[in-house]
Amino acid sequence: MKKIAVIGSGTMGSGIAQVAATAGCSVKLYDTNQEALSRSKGSLENTLSKLVEKGKIDDAEKSRILNATSYVTTLQDLSDSDLVIEAIVENLDVKRKVFSELETLVSAETVLASNTSSLSIASIAASCQKPERVIGIHFFNPAPLMQLVEVIPAVQTSAEVLQKTTQTISDWKKVVAVAKDTPGFIVNRVARPFYSEALRVYEEGYADFATIDWSMKTIGGFRMGPFELMDFIGHDVNYTVTETVFTSFYFDPRYKPSFTQKRLTEAGFLGRKSGRGFYNYS
Ligand code: NAD
Repeated sequence: MKKIAVIGSGTMGSGIAQVAATAGCSVKLYDTNQEALSRSKGSLENTLSKLVEKGKIDDAEKSRILNATSYVTTLQDLSDSDLVIEAIVENLDVKRKVFSELETLVSAETVLASNTSSLSIASIAASCQKPERVIGIHFFNPAPLMQLVEVIPAVQTSAEVLQKTTQTISDWKKVVAVAKDTPGFIVNRVARPFYSEALRVYEEGYADFATIDWSMKTIGGFRMGPFELMDFIGHDVNYTVTETVFTSFYFDPRYKPSFTQKRLTEAGFLGRKSGRGFYNYS
C-alpha cells in the first residue's frame, strides 16, 4: 500500500504522515481545520530541518519527504488511496460518521484504519458496508520515534486486510504487536494505573505533581513522569481514553477517571499543545 491518506492533522496524524512519507509513500493529509493543516505543514518542515542539522538526513531526503506530502481540504481528495488512517478526535460517533462517509468515496479495496487509543474497532467497522476492510492501527506518540504499533483486527476484519496491514507497518520499520479488540488494547490498558494512581496520590495531597514526576524518573527509571506524560499526550485525549476504558469495563473502579484531569480538560488546559496543563509551556 503506497498511496496513504491520513485524516486529522493533529499530534498523531502529523506524525503518522511523516512516518509514511519517510518510508517512501505518497501521503495526503486531510483536516477540517485549515489552521491545523498549516501547523502540521510548518511542523514537518521544522522537524526535517532539525534532522538535516543533526546530519540524520540530507537536503535531498528532506525535499523528497516534503514533496511526498500534500495537504487537502475535502474527503473526496482521498478517493484514490490504498490505505486511509483516521486520527481525529477520540469520539465514537464522530469516527463512525467519518468512516461511513469515507467508504462511499474510496475503492472497494481501500483499507480503512483507525488510530483510536481505546474505542471499539468492531463498532467503527460496523458503520461501513464492507466492515472486513476496517482495522485498528495504533501508533504511539511521537509516531516518528516510537517503535511499537498495535494492529487491531476487529471480529469483522478479513485475514487479508490484517496481513496487508502488518506488512505495510513492518515496511515502515515499525514493530507490530497484534492486539485484541478490547478497550485500550494492550498498552493503554496497562498504562491506565500509571496515570490514575499518580493522579490519586496528588489529589489525596501526599505529594505534588512535580515530586511524583521526579520520583518516577529518578527512582523509577521512567523517561517521563506521569504528569509530564499526560501533558504531552493532551488531557482531552488522555481523559477520554480513561473514561472509555472505565465505562467499557462496566465501571470497574480500577479505571476510575480523575476530576482534576476532567477540570483541566474543561478549562482548555490540555497540556503542551495548548501551552498549559499541569506545567506551563508559554
Ligand atoms: P489532536 O487533537 O492533536 O488532533 C485531532 C485533529 O483531528 C485536529 O486537528 C482536528 O481538527 C481534526 N478533526 C477533528 N474532527 C475531524 C473530522 N471530522 N474530520 C477531519 N479532521 C477532524 O488529537 P491526537 O492527539 O492527534 O489524537 C487523534 C487520535 O489518535 C485519537 O483517536 C487519539 O485517541 C489517538 N491517539 C492519540 C495519542 C496521543 O498521545 N495524543 C496517541 C495514540 C493515539
